[in-house]
Amino acid sequence: MGRWTVAEQTQRERIREAVAEASKMRDRLDDARAEELMHALQKASDDVAAAIDAFDAKTDGKPWESMRETHLKALQDSIDEVTAELSETMGLKSLSHIEDALKLGIEDGVLQGVALGLPDFTDLSPSSRGKLISKVFSTIDRSAVNFLANYETQLLGQVAENLGGKIKATVLNGVLTGKPVREVAKEIGKAIPTGDKAAFKAAGKTVFKSAQQRAMLVARTETVRAHSEGRKTQYREMGVKKVEWLTADDERTCPECEPLHLRVFKVDDAPGPPKHPACRCAIAAFVPEEED
Ligand SMILES: [Zn+2]
Repeated sequence: MGRWTVAEQTQRERIREAVAEASKMRDRLDDARAEELMHALQKASDDVAAAIDAFDAKTDGKPWESMRETHLKALQDSIDEVTAELSETMGLKSLSHIEDALKLGIEDGVLQGVALGLPDFTDLSPSSRGKLISKVFSTIDRSAVNFLANYETQLLGQVAENLGGKIKATVLNGVLTGKPVREVAKEIGKAIPTGDKAAFKAAGKTVFKSAQQRAMLVARTETVRAHSEGRKTQYREMGVKKVEWLTADDERTCPECEPLHLRVFKVDDAPGPPKHPACRCAIAAFVPEEED
């Protein structure tokens, strides 16, 4: 028969439920951050389009090769300005994003404490739950929080820098091959609303689309990282020693993590999540087998 007693099975199921619920909250945080990044990218793509339009107007629709070097230099400067501003805007909310993800991770740990039936957690009112989360959050070393936030900012800065380089290369390529301005603008593309999956797919390999994908990948991975940190902090607080790895049970399951599914680790030995960029996995407090 089964290895679990009825009571344990129920506890295990309750933890799984708590984890699934927490993953949904984590996804919502992710989506909100993706929206912010998308808006920053949309503004940048509008600004780049405006700079190219202005350039086109100045040169009166003449082919690129006839444009004077000074005009090209001005366009390059505009692109640098736009990407520097983009880098700043995208990084601006990293600290609050990381803090939110950490708190959500702590909350996830608390929910697992409830599922475990730990005495301090079973009768928590929503307001004392909030207080508990803030208290545990305050135990996290500020330098660790700042490190996670700076890491995200730095990765997003690289995305913006890379985007600027690619826009300039696309413009230069247009100049060299005599492409019409409109066509060059199309190759650069623009940011696409995150909810518009069809448009996202149809956007081809435009420069902005790949930057947008990359930015969202960074945010998603860093959400998962901070969320995990919060959860592990709460585990230590509750005295949970071992965790069980759970791959996301949906269409976004990470194939790379499949072999880790249900593997048990000591809290500090768990290799994430994230195990890799875009990892969707979670860890759950491990309910040990009953001894016979
Ligand atoms: Zn994974």
